[in-house]
Amino acid sequence: LPEPGVTALTAADVADRLPRPAAESDKYRRGVVGVVAGSDRFTGAAVLAVGGAVRGGAGMVRYAGPAEPVRLVRARWPEAVTTILEPGDDVSGVGRVQAWVLGPGMGTDDRAHALARSVLDTGLPTVLDADGLTLLARDRSLLRPNLLLTPHAGELSRLLGVPAADIEARRLEHVRRAAAELGVTVLLKGSTTLVAEPGRPVRVNPTGTPWLATAGTGDVLAGLAGALLAGGLDTYDAGCCAAFLHGLAAHVAAAGPGGATEAAEAVLTTMLDAVAGAG
Ligand code: AMP
Ligand code: MG
Repeated sequence: LPEPGVTALTAADVADRLPRPAAESDKYRRGVVGVVAGSDRFTGAAVLAVGGAVRGGAGMVRYAGPAEPVRLVRARWPEAVTTILEPGDDVSGVGRVQAWVLGPGMGTDDRAHALARSVLDTGLPTVLDADGLTLLARDRSLLRPNLLLTPHAGELSRLLGVPAADIEARRLEHVRRAAAELGVTVLLKGSTTLVAEPGRPVRVNPTGTPWLATAGTGDVLAGLAGALLAGGLDTYDAGCCAAFLHGLAAHVAAAGPGGATEAAEAVLTTMLDAVAGAG
């Protein structure tokens, strides 16, 4: 049954909003994303979040973290500009960015807390995910406007103080409540991803496959959303477009090496038809 105030995302919604390079674009105007993620224990989160931002079409990705994740990020994504953070450093030495991705694998100790605060104190639009959400659940004084929160049910459960089973049983109600209570955009991940913001319809993402249920995919989504924020989308549009494209990418990948080209063409055709129809 259609619910009032809830609408499905369409390819046309995404095609209309997606930032595209213009003839006169340069890397700065396309958007610089800062990624603060990963740690010596969780190095992969850094590589995955930076990858999401690079492939999400950012003009430049700046990564800041400990020496070991920096080394791995540089090896996998040579286009990323990196800064090694020593324990106790803030992000003042990272350089100019238009948006941040904050949280995946960064840890939740006092140093991570201080680092998260230094990112949030810039006041720039920020995707807050994973350990960043745990820090916010513990310390609500980290809350700012201009945030896109990307929790799964467990993370939202900690934020709202509601059992995860209750979240799963009434996802729509809880994502709405979280957005209203916190006054920010909330993207609730899971088998069906929902995006909520006070005063705007809840959007239901139709793309994606259960093959996404694997460690690391959320880190890529956070990076992708960060690229779209840096490209000028607001937190709601960035969340909607990132969820849709992330799911689409999973369809293409799940089609396997043999089927990938065909699947990608089908997707592109659908999006181009949608743009023609919307125009
Ligand atoms: P995370 O929970 O941070 O690891 O992120 C997991 C990602 O996979 C999110 O984008 C989820 O929406 C997606 N995902 C997880 N389980 C499923 C599922 N059963 N079907 C479709 N997408 C899923
Ligand atoms: Mg995650």
